[in-house]
Amino acid sequence: MLGPYRYFCPACNLESDPYFLKRTADDVGEDHRHKRHGGLHPVGECILTSGELRAPQGGERSAVVAFAVIMLLAFGAKILGLV
Ligand SMILES: [Zn+2]
Repeated sequence: MLGPYRYFCPACNLESDPYFLKRTADDVGEDHRHKRHGGLHPVGECILTSGELRAPQGGERSAVVAFAVIMLLAFGAKILGLV
């Protein structure tokens, strides 16, 4: 399922930007944990799924575009009777 997903750290009382993919929010959380908490998990940290969605950027956009292309190819193959 596509976002928006935000990483939330209650220890620092911070919330990441909203991301299109949960994996991106997870990566942001992991990076934050290593930089601010020595790799430990703050109690109550979580991925929030509320908030408005911004357009995917950078590598995240590439992943979304690749997913869309694969789905279109699969759908096209099915219509043409190849699958
Ligand atoms: Zn934190």
